[in-house]
Amino acid sequence: MSDKKLIGDLLRAHGLKKTPIRLEMLELFMDHDFALSASDIVAKMTAGHDRVTIYRALSSFEENGILHRASEDGQGVKYALCGQHCPDESHSDEHAHFVCDECHHTYCLEDVKIPEVKVSNEFMVDRANYTLSGICKECKS
Ligand SMILES: [Zn+2]
Ligand SMILES: [Zn+2]
Ligand SMILES: [Zn+2]
Repeated sequence: MSDKKLIGDLLRAHGLKKTPIRLEMLELFMDHDFALSASDIVAKMTAGHDRVTIYRALSSFEENGILHRASEDGQGVKYALCGQHCPDESHSDEHAHFVCDECHHTYCLEDVKIPEVKVSNEFMVDRANYTLSGICKECKS
C-alpha cells in the first residue's frame, strides 16, 4: 500500500478531512523514524505554510489520536505518529522515548512501557513522560 493511500485511510479512520497540508505533513512523519517539531515541519514542507496553519494541524492530529507528544525542549514539542490503536481524544501509546545527545532526535521506544509510579492521592496524575537520553543507533554507527 502506498503512503498516500495509508495516510488517506488514517485520516478517514480518525474522522479528519483529507487536505493537501494534512497529507503532506503526515507523509513527512512517515518518512522519518524520529519525532518532528513544528519548526522541523515548516522547514521540510515544499510550499511555504504559515506556522499557525501547521500548529493548528498538529493539534488536530493530537486531538484525533494520530500524533502524540514525544518530547519537549527549547525548540518546542516534538510529535510522533501513534500506533494503530490510539482512539480519538485519549492516547493509549504510553511508551518511553529516547532523546539523542548528539543529533537531538527523539525516537519512540514503543516496546518500553512507562514504569508504574505510586503518587499520593493528593495529586491526580493525567500524563507521564519517560525520557531516556544517550546516543542513538544512527550516531553510534
Ligand atoms: Zn497516541
Ligand atoms: Zn543521534
Ligand atoms: Zn512515541
